[in-house]
Amino acid sequence: MSAPNKSYDPVEVEALKPEEIERMRDEALAAFAAAGDLDALQEAKVAHTGGTSPLALANREIGALPPHAKAEAGKRVGQARGAVNKAFAARQTELEAERDARVLVEEAVDVTLPHDRVPAGARHPLTTMMERVADVFVSMGYEVAEGPEVEAEWFNFDALNFGPDHPARQMQDTFFVEGPTGDHGESGVVLRTHTSPVQARAMLDREPPVYIVCPGRVYRTDELDATHTPVFHQIELLAIDEGLTMADLKGTLDHMVQSLFGSDMKTRLRPNYFPFTEPSAEMDMLCYVCKGESVGNPDRPCRTCSSEGWIELGGCGMVNPRVLVACGVDPQKYSGFAFGFGIERMLMFRHNVEDMRDMVEGDVRFTRPFGMEI
Ligand SMILES: [Zn+2]
Repeated sequence: MSAPNKSYDPVEVEALKPEEIERMRDEALAAFAAAGDLDALQEAKVAHTGGTSPLALANREIGALPPHAKAEAGKRVGQARGAVNKAFAARQTELEAERDARVLVEEAVDVTLPHDRVPAGARHPLTTMMERVADVFVSMGYEVAEGPEVEAEWFNFDALNFGPDHPARQMQDTFFVEGPTGDHGESGVVLRTHTSPVQARAMLDREPPVYIVCPGRVYRTDELDATHTPVFHQIELLAIDEGLTMADLKGTLDHMVQSLFGSDMKTRLRPNYFPFTEPSAEMDMLCYVCKGESVGNPDRPCRTCSSEGWIELGGCGMVNPRVLVACGVDPQKYSGFAFGFGIERMLMFRHNVEDMRDMVEGDVRFTRPFGMEI
């Protein structure tokens, strides 16, 4: 075995010295260990295993060695490169696991978080109150009837025995959509001032007996203030049958207030005048808070009825025969009763609403407490 050629001794070739190879390997391992993320690791990989990395350059030197030196140098460089690749793969696995763990935490979806935090609204108490009153009558066999809010003047006034000179027909009380036309004062068009035209339509539409309840929106030319609103709601009742009397009306009213306010409630009637009923009456209900015990009793004042014992609810009466005739019903055979009242007013005394504007301004803070009403 000849002495090694000094000029090709791998130990003498600077890049192939064992300690040099170890240094390159250790630098690569240190760089991988120091890489904080996959991008940094990729950079370290290029620097330490790429085509221009020290180990790759050292590898290239091997080719110039004499055959007997190649194996040893090749083995040394190969082991170093193997160690570097292994370290890279290990660090890559480690960093990928870290990244996956981080993504799981950062992008986690908390399925326990509430997803439906949309504030719940509530139906308007005027609507629920109207339905509640209508339900009382539906349970007695009445039918809910509705009519147009833009109404012929004839249905709103003439059919209901309002004469041509009745003050309610003046512009200051009624919204006219179209004034009377033609030389003979043909019917104009108004925003209905009460739900009574629905009664006239119902009588013309169907044969007696008629039992209907008409909830709806009505219009008067009032300014909006604490106790007035130009748009408000009424509920009205009409019964047409053979042999109906004031006693039937009174019994029906008593049943209504008992259904709405309790079984010990009652009503009273006071004479009044309305064009479409004869006789007509104002209907009062017993104060459902003090049951009349505040009257003459200064120690127990009642805010709801102002210590009067009764609460004025609405108007009623026997349908005027002239209205029956105008609506095609034979007053010799049939009689009927009607009554109606304002929903806003009932809401005010039933729930101590002091300002009517609260009902129309659409603030959800007003309606929400009524949303739980069942
Ligand atoms: Zn009272």
